Amino acid sequence: MKIIDILNRKNMSLSFEVFPPKKEAGFEGVKETTEKIAANKPAYMSVTYGAGGGTSRFTLDIAKNIEERYGVPTLAHLTCVSSSRDTVHHKIEEIHELGIENIMALRGDLTPELEATDRSTWDYRYAVELIRDIKESGYDFCIGAACYPEVHPESANQRDDIKHLKEKVDAGAEFLVTQMVFDNNLFFNFLYKIREAGINVPVIPGIMPITNANQVERAIKLSGSFMPQRFKAIVDYFGADPDAMKQAGIAYATDQIIDLYANGITNVHVYSMNKPDVAQKIMDNLSDILWKDF
Ligand code: FAD
Repeated sequence: MKIIDILNRKNMSLSFEVFPPKKEAGFEGVKETTEKIAANKPAYMSVTYGAGGGTSRFTLDIAKNIEERYGVPTLAHLTCVSSSRDTVHHKIEEIHELGIENIMALRGDLTPELEATDRSTWDYRYAVELIRDIKESGYDFCIGAACYPEVHPESANQRDDIKHLKEKVDAGAEFLVTQMVFDNNLFFNFLYKIREAGINVPVIPGIMPITNANQVERAIKLSGSFMPQRFKAIVDYFGADPDAMKQAGIAYATDQIIDLYANGITNVHVYSMNKPDVAQKIMDNLSDILWKDF
């Protein structure tokens, strides 16, 4: 099933992101974990892709398993910046052959090793080039792309960032998923600005439940996302007690999701980080809201 068809429904839904193992030895464990999340029948599940190769082999194995065993549609992430055109074309072919209908088209982060090389030798510099290649493949994929309510760290300003985002949509991205946001107002401000810029595709907010204090620093470092004072107070107060922190983090994420639903957003993407218990608790918290059309 195509994600755009899920997004066009009017009922409230949740999707979850999982990541594949780094090594073969971790495969069975991750498979089991992702199956537990899939058993909750979310609207769809996305499976990340290791930009430098590492975990990329397993992205499709995990996605295929989720679709086959649980009938949950998947969104296979694919990055391009550290790959040759041949490798990427081969991956696109493989995704099609496996019957996966949705691709999240990403550039991938620039590693110091990559940055030390001559850019003119790169086959891909931006995600928009990958989107064009997917379209040119002729296969009928539903393509998603990333967006940044707090501006991508390499962008000089939001206006440029939104201009390049529009290029991705014009090239064929049918929906967008945001970098994690901890303050919904930032998401709504961003939505207003991109609509003004003529971007009209569905935008799925990405919510990361912070369930332990150490995760906070990592999440900020990875995403550059703003942590509201209200959230910092929770971490300060409960951070030393793992169970309390977990409960408070899940409650905070649930609260954000309810606020998004109540303001007209029907699908929210949860960065569930291969934690089935967290995914389950969030779904339980929303049991009388999910799947309904209000
Ligand atoms: P792009 O859209 O290419 O943008 C990158 C930067 O270049 C931006 O600053 C943009 O404004 C600028 N830009 C774009 N086009 C042009 C142009 N023509 N001229 C000048 N500047 C331009 N990484 C992974 O490795 N694996 C994953 O699975 C993964 N999943 C992700 C999922 C989501 C929802 C998000 C938000 C990010 C994900 N990432 C993942 C991280 C992503 O790869 C990085 O954020 C990366 O730095 C940018 O990727 P992008 O696709 O947004 O790039």
